[in-house]
Amino acid sequence: MIEINGKACSFEKGDTVLDVARANDIDIPTLCHLKDTTPTGACRICLVEADGANNLIASCDTPACEGMKVQTHSERVVAARKGILELLLSSGDHYCLLCESNGDCELQDLSIEYKADGRCLPETGRKSSVEDSDALILRDFSKCIHCGRCVKACNEIQMHDVLSFGHEEGSPKIFAGDNETLRESDCRFCGECVQACPTGALLEKKALGKGKVRDEQKVRTTCPYCGVGCQLWLHVRDDKIVKVTGVDEGLPNKGRTCVKGRFGYDFIYNKDRLTKPLIKQKNGEYKEAEWDETLDLIASKFQTFIEESGADSVAGISCARSINEDNYQMQKLFRTVFRTNNIDHCART
Ligand code: SF4
Ligand code: SF4
Ligand code: SF4
Repeated sequence: MIEINGKACSFEKGDTVLDVARANDIDIPTLCHLKDTTPTGACRICLVEADGANNLIASCDTPACEGMKVQTHSERVVAARKGILELLLSSGDHYCLLCESNGDCELQDLSIEYKADGRCLPETGRKSSVEDSDALILRDFSKCIHCGRCVKACNEIQMHDVLSFGHEEGSPKIFAGDNETLRESDCRFCGECVQACPTGALLEKKALGKGKVRDEQKVRTTCPYCGVGCQLWLHVRDDKIVKVTGVDEGLPNKGRTCVKGRFGYDFIYNKDRLTKPLIKQKNGEYKEAEWDETLDLIASKFQTFIEESGADSVAGISCARSINEDNYQMQKLFRTVFRTNNIDHCART
């Protein structure tokens, strides 16, 4: 057992103090901690006071030990967290009113909670660059707090090994490859780093300037691209999808997505999309038709082929992007109505 804020809590071998607190609904703030990855211990926001320890300890990488007594919000802890937030804010350009992440930023949330504004320390004067060369992800290093969540997301969740900690002109910086732009590196543009970032340092470019976070609605859906069935949140503003994130607790993807699931949603707004069936005319041109007319034509053609040449003269290939139920019905139609086993699936071809 350990005691957190006077509450006795059981733990398993290998649990950190943070793990035990979270399992018991005890709040300890974090910035660098990323679920399902190894502890980073970089931001120190999760400091707690442990009886018998001279210094405050980082709860995210301190193992729970039998008999430990911990305070998560003592005066000393709160003052230390506020000091850390002041340092983080003053080391970058954190003008929230001008930031795309205003209202959707963990650093901002904690700064409000701990009444830190970064003004009690002089600005560092350090100039940080903005990497804006890629079509999908914007990297604004002036808002980076070097928490390393993006590094963990890339290397330990997606296993892409693109990002790493480094230094440029004496200041810490997150490198892509050999300090390349994302486009020049081996980045797969899965966007996991953007989803993990607790500040406005990593942004999805397609969401920029598209309404306010506070007006956003989240709609849960299943990714339409392949048969894996990843669970997604569609972030909708003014009736338009502005970005996509993975559903943390959703199986099978547990919050992850590939590049298609994350960024490939614009096609639904493409004006060239077919919204009505087209029937090919004798002169080779296509003419728009109603569904009833189209389905009658298809049924009559099948009937003619089967009557003239037998059931095995027709075959069906169903679509990997359709739902299981539709694929089931497709094979049922061919086997029980047309009486042929000529049925296959595009994922096998
Ligand atoms: S990154 Fe967060 S704290 Fe910094 S300016 Fe943007 S909203 Fe504010
Ligand atoms: S988009 Fe994916 S592959 Fe590219 S840096 Fe981010 S996490 Fe790594
Ligand atoms: S880019 Fe974001 S996630 Fe990566 S270190 Fe900076 S603040 Fe953290």
